[in-house]
Amino acid sequence: MKHAEDILTEAGIKLTAMRILILKEIINYNGVFTLADLELQLDTVDKSTIFRTLSLLLEKDLLHEIDDGSGSKKYCLCTCHEEKHRLHVHFTCNLCQKTYCFKDVTIEHTPLPEAFQVTGANIVFKGICPECSKK
Ligand SMILES: [Zn+2]
Ligand SMILES: [Zn+2]
Repeated sequence: MKHAEDILTEAGIKLTAMRILILKEIINYNGVFTLADLELQLDTVDKSTIFRTLSLLLEKDLLHEIDDGSGSKKYCLCTCHEEKHRLHVHFTCNLCQKTYCFKDVTIEHTPLPEAFQVTGANIVFKGICPECSKK
């Protein structure tokens, strides 16, 4: 994984101590997180700063928003800027409600009617995760 500083610089975002701190935390999740997760983890940081930083990262396309039907928005980090990674899939477990991010599984070859240009997708599969199948 790239360093927080490099990710921000490459995206043209000015480096601030807070942004670096928040992005480092996001990198640590190495998967899917919510705003509440971040607020809990960074409880010394002003909530509006966290929210503003998230919005900025979303705007710069470094985060993907995932709507898994749980009612709380979830996010995953996606820094490669490759077209196909915009179309990667997620999986929500029916039992533990955990949402997984599969960056290498994409739907880029899903045939849509001609003339429809896809710029993103919100693909969430539902099922049972390996942890829960073991039980
Ligand atoms: Zn599960
Ligand atoms: Zn993802």
